[in-house]
Amino acid sequence: MSKRDYYDILGVSKGASTEELKKSYRKMALKFHPDKNPGDKEAEEKFKEAAEAYEVLSDADKRSRYDQFGHQGLKGSGFGGGQHMSMDDIFSHFGDIFGDVFGGGFGGFGSQGPTRRRVNRGSNLRVKVRLSLKEIADGVEKKIKLNKYVRCNVCHGSGAERGTSKSTCSTCRGRGQVTKVTNTFLGQMQTSSTCPQCGGEGEVITSKCHECHGNGIVKGEEVVTFKIPAGVAEGMQLSVSGKGNYAARGGVPGDLLVLIEEGDHPDLIRDGNNLLFDLYVSISDAALGTQVEVPTVDGKAKIKIVPGTQGGKVLRLKGKGLPDVNGYGRGDQLVNVNVWTPKNLSREEKKILEELKNSENFKPSPTSKDKSYFERMREFFS
Ligand SMILES: [Zn+2]
Ligand SMILES: [Zn+2]
Repeated sequence: MSKRDYYDILGVSKGASTEELKKSYRKMALKFHPDKNPGDKEAEEKFKEAAEAYEVLSDADKRSRYDQFGHQGLKGSGFGGGQHMSMDDIFSHFGDIFGDVFGGGFGGFGSQGPTRRRVNRGSNLRVKVRLSLKEIADGVEKKIKLNKYVRCNVCHGSGAERGTSKSTCSTCRGRGQVTKVTNTFLGQMQTSSTCPQCGGEGEVITSKCHECHGNGIVKGEEVVTFKIPAGVAEGMQLSVSGKGNYAARGGVPGDLLVLIEEGDHPDLIRDGNNLLFDLYVSISDAALGTQVEVPTVDGKAKIKIVPGTQGGKVLRLKGKGLPDVNGYGRGDQLVNVNVWTPKNLSREEKKILEELKNSENFKPSPTSKDKSYFERMREFFS
């Protein structure tokens, strides 16, 4: 986007004096001030444009660079690269422009000026919630009792004693900010700071509530209910908006931050959205085939062990894992088959095995179908 000429923006000639620039900018700023044109994007743009033009032309050095090289000459000075001044920057310079007209109230604009009252915010609270795998699989609603700052019931959070009311702060006239103009060798300097009288709130309490000493909040208990979506994981933090500490004198409450902890499951191990289970079958079941029950997060599931199943075979129970927290489907349960080798044998058992030992079928002869455990795992997770 090509930038308009700064002199055109302010409607002054190239040789305009500092006074002319100031006068013109003042007019523009009043006309396009956001307080006068709420929601008007075009006015806001004009307001910013004028502020930028004035910022440059009122500075002798920047002006001379601009006169020689145009917008290009201001590269690196914060202008000319397309960035605008922020509204805060603009307002912070208003003192110089309007100070002599309106007597130096904050922002110097009209009788009120932009209000920068401080809004109290309650602090956040943190809790840890330990969830079972089942709760993670299904999602859960938790109800917990919190010790926290709650609204004072005596003054309903206002901090003012019953029968009294708050009054507009006389120091800042309700603006929450005070402006100090000091004379320095550089000229008049204007600084704004939080009003010491009201702490930036713009209002003061004439008589403090006896219960909360004017804070509007007291220590108390609150039972908070919130939902935890399915599929959350250890270390995730959920934010429950507005359920933290109440704010002093009717501000915005903080948030409740819920840190998720994952409880152990006696049988299942979580791996992302998949669940892993180690199954042990006997040599005879592995050789002859069988049907077994395995635990899942939703109760038992039956799986078939085909005759000749090798140890290390991974069977997949589709969709028996955990739901994705972002709603992208559901993981699987992977069943790792281990063939149990007996550790203690009776004399008869030993005898039978001795007999089978030299049988051709008992000698290991893996084919490509009997891929190693590692090879299979690589395929599953790739
Ligand atoms: Zn109170
Ligand atoms: Zn004040």
